[in-house]
Amino acid sequence: NANQLLRYAADRFSLFGEQQGVQLSLDIQETLPDVHIDKDAINQVLDNLLSNAIKYTPAGGSVVLRAHAKRHQKRVYISIADTGIGIPSRDLKRIFERFYRVDKARSRGQGGTGLGLAIARELVQAHGAEIEIASELNQGTTVTFWVPFAKGGKAG
Ligand code: ATP
Ligand code: MG
Repeated sequence: NANQLLRYAADRFSLFGEQQGVQLSLDIQETLPDVHIDKDAINQVLDNLLSNAIKYTPAGGSVVLRAHAKRHQKRVYISIADTGIGIPSRDLKRIFERFYRVDKARSRGQGGTGLGLAIARELVQAHGAEIEIASELNQGTTVTFWVPFAKGGKAG
């Protein structure tokens, strides 16, 4: 069940959000259809994206996890939007590459290997779906991906 999955994902990050002074909220359509993606994969994608959103957002900022179904396309669109440091436009096209990081100094000493987005993209694409990123330096970042409805799934 996609609703429960998203709520659990947000729950996993509530403590990290609190520690970082970042408000995490949900804007999720109440009755999402079942989606055709394995649970471990989508949890990994959500964890990578939520950890980035919180990690790269200064205290006082916010992160919103949104999800809604597009029935005619039979897709559930999921996005994670933050009000964080953003990504320079010249780095955006390479940001899904393995080990690509914008600048170590930006991440508030939290480090990282530069694999989170690469893995997220691989998992999403392995399900025949797509992921994209939009960002504005010092304004924030939104990562959006969609996953297909399960066979016979319909939006409530
Ligand atoms: P890892 O996820 O492997 O621990 P990482 O967070 O550095 O390390 P990615 O998740 O792949 O690696 O992200 C790559 C780079 O993209 C980051 O180093 C950071 O510079 C930038 N980035 C990713 N998400 C955001 C975001 N929400 N806001 C600002 N910059 C981001
Ligand atoms: Mg990361």
